[in-house]
Formats: sequence, structure tokens, C-alpha cells
Amino acid sequence: MPEALPDFRYHPDPVASGAIERSETKCIVCGQNRGFIYAGPVYAEEEFYKEICPWCIADGRAHRELQAEFFDSAGVGGGGVWESVSDEVVAAIAERTPSFSGWQQERWFTCCGDAAAFVGRAGTRELQAHGPEAHEAIRREAGLDASAWSDYLDELDGEGSPTAYLFRSLHCGSFGGYSDCD
Ligand SMILES: [Zn+2]
Ligand SMILES: [Zn+2]
Repeated sequence: MPEALPDFRYHPDPVASGAIERSETKCIVCGQNRGFIYAGPVYAEEEFYKEICPWCIADGRAHRELQAEFFDSAGVGGGGVWESVSDEVVAAIAERTPSFSGWQQERWFTCCGDAAAFVGRAGTRELQAHGPEAHEAIRREAGLDASAWSDYLDELDGEGSPTAYLFRSLHCGSFGGYSDCD
């Protein structure tokens, strides 16, 4: 049995979202094969695609040793669209949290003075599964009325375009996020 993954406050189920995969690859930072590898974006001098284990992200070692970031800090709060949060929270997202790839500049939803938890990329089916509040959050952000939204919702594709990025507040439980296309 592989070890339990470290806790990521802002990305609670990175296996479900696809940010972390089962893998026998040795981590480029700690040199160990720990059964999982990070499969999301890494911002560093070199490319480190599927080379970093979740533990080296969680404890900040990958950030320190590779000067790597996993999210553009300017995108936390959507570049001023949502609440601003403390520098500590921004650093936790950029330096110690598995992230995700979007079609356009990625944005991290914030609520209740904190960054929200990333649920995952979502298409029609995934949004339906999270219920009407999840729809409403994405519809409101897209600025669509009911009939335009119904067409748009049909087109949303978690693996394609357009896609939604769903988050949930760690404090009030509300859904938030946005959608984009290629
Ligand atoms: Zn490692
Ligand atoms: Zn909230």
C-alpha cells in the first residue's frame, strides 16, 4: 500500500482532479519512488513535468531546491476580481500546493478572506454532480442569462473547451470559480 498523500488545504483531492497520479517515477527532488507524482504545471527555469512527488511540494522542498512555483501568485484572487488574501496564503498556493492548467491565465478563487479549495476542472457532468449552487457560481462569473447559460452548460467539457474550474470556500462552503476556452 502506498503512503497516504500529504494534506493539501487548498487542493484536498488532487488525485480526483488529476493533479497527482499514481507513478513509479523517482522524484527529482528527494530521489524516492513514493508511488505518486505531480502531473500539473511547474514554473521554473527548467521543465519538471511529472518529476516531483507530492511530499516535496507539501513541505516546500521542491520550491526551495528548484526555485519552482506551481501557480502564478498574481492569479490568486483572480487578479483583483475576488477578495485579496494574505501573502502567507498566496505563498501557500504558489509554493506548496498542486495546481491545474487552464486554457488562459489560471485564477484561484478566494472567499471569506482565504483562498478556496480547488475541486477540479468541470464539464457538464461534473457541474451537474455538484448541484445547482455550483452551476450558479460558474454562470454568474460568466455573466450569462438563463438561456445562454443552458447552451453554454451543454458545451462545458472538463477535458476540452470551454471548461469550468470549480472551487469551494473552506469557510462558508459556497462554490466559486470560472470558465474559459481555448
Ligand atoms: Zn520528492
Ligand atoms: Zn466563503
